[in-house]
Amino acid sequence: MSRNRKIGIMGGTFNPIHFGHLLLAETAYHQFSLDEILFMPTKNPYYKKLGNSVTEEDRVQMVKLAIKDNAHFTFSGEELNREGTTYTVETLKNLTQKNPDCEYYFIMGADSLYHIESWKDTEKVLQMAVILVAGRGDLSSSLNSQIEYIENKYDASIHFLNSPSLEISSNDIRRRVQTGESIRYLLPREVADYIYDHGLYVM
Ligand code: NAP
Repeated sequence: MSRNRKIGIMGGTFNPIHFGHLLLAETAYHQFSLDEILFMPTKNPYYKKLGNSVTEEDRVQMVKLAIKDNAHFTFSGEELNREGTTYTVETLKNLTQKNPDCEYYFIMGADSLYHIESWKDTEKVLQMAVILVAGRGDLSSSLNSQIEYIENKYDASIHFLNSPSLEISSNDIRRRVQTGESIRYLLPREVADYIYDHGLYVM
């Protein structure tokens, strides 16, 4: 009997990708018995500006370097191949059309769950994917309330990801490069080498 493949989606700017992202994806893979995790860099998003020195190609190369040793991590250019603003609802529609036998699990930080009602077609997003929310270790009552509110309002399926929380952020890595501080042990060595070899984040 064939069963649906369970696919995790790890979307983000990845500017740059770091061990926090990788650990979260690995945790999701094991905690929810997923078959594969798609690392899907966003197109330069409509709601934020990226630093001048980093191209889409740089972010793509860094993601590919970071995941190359993990057989259940796959790069996905799904959002990069589309023109104009990319919305998660369209990503999920495209993926579902191409692979109707797959179930999708969208991994997001707690902050995104507070903003999800401002996303395009929130209801459809929540119909097409199970949401896996990463907290910061604490299952705070406010996050619990938000999960309950969204689940009830949209009949959504939302689960908490029990990931060890690493206090690593892309923003902090960019700041460290700019000020000459070490970024060792915050991200894979190949990604750090890429950053230095290409002079990223220095201005
Ligand atoms: P982001 O700016 O890269 O990440 C936002 C925050 O979450 C940052 O603190 C980031 O840490 C952290 N983070 C990044 N990727 C994460 C992940 N997969 N799970 C948990 N935490 C994560 O990403 P974003 O712009 O919010 O986008 C995240 C996803 O949501 C993308 O797939 C995007 O397409 C989707 N999204 C869709 C809409 C829409 O459809 N209207 C709107 C917003 C976002 P670092 O800074 O350290 O990376």
